[in-house]
Amino acid sequence: MVSSELRELYQELILDHSKKPRNFRALADANHTAEGFNPLCGDKLKLYLKVEGDVIQDIGFEGSGCAISKASTSMMTASVKGKSVSEAERLFHEFHHMLSGNDAAKMDLSKLGKLTVFAGVSEFPVRVKCATLAWHTLKAGLESDGKVVSTEE
Ligand code: ZN
Repeated sequence: MVSSELRELYQELILDHSKKPRNFRALADANHTAEGFNPLCGDKLKLYLKVEGDVIQDIGFEGSGCAISKASTSMMTASVKGKSVSEAERLFHEFHHMLSGNDAAKMDLSKLGKLTVFAGVSEFPVRVKCATLAWHTLKAGLESDGKVVSTEE
């Protein structure tokens, strides 16, 4: 069970990232891009990636949306920057798994670090798409270029 103090800390972290998103900029030298759209909430983002070899050297995003989507995108970019593509894909799987809820309690979430602040979102199914949009867009950007992903497809 999450204590109320911890819950407050989580909310502060989400607020901080939504007000001051990290890596909130277009990358002039991006070699992968992808766009994400969540029509249920109106969240939109464009992701820029600079991948060299197997490493995400740089990442940036632009867009608009609710606090959850902004904070999630900000924290996603901060957690995959400098990581290998396969490590980023592992994080995507764990994050997605955490938010799909079913067996989150049995999961080892230690790899997710601060990203576990979004675990509480799984209680609000409508918000899950706001939190996972960034990760689906990242996956699309790593797999192919210039793709537009929608949570409603
Ligand atoms: Zn949203």
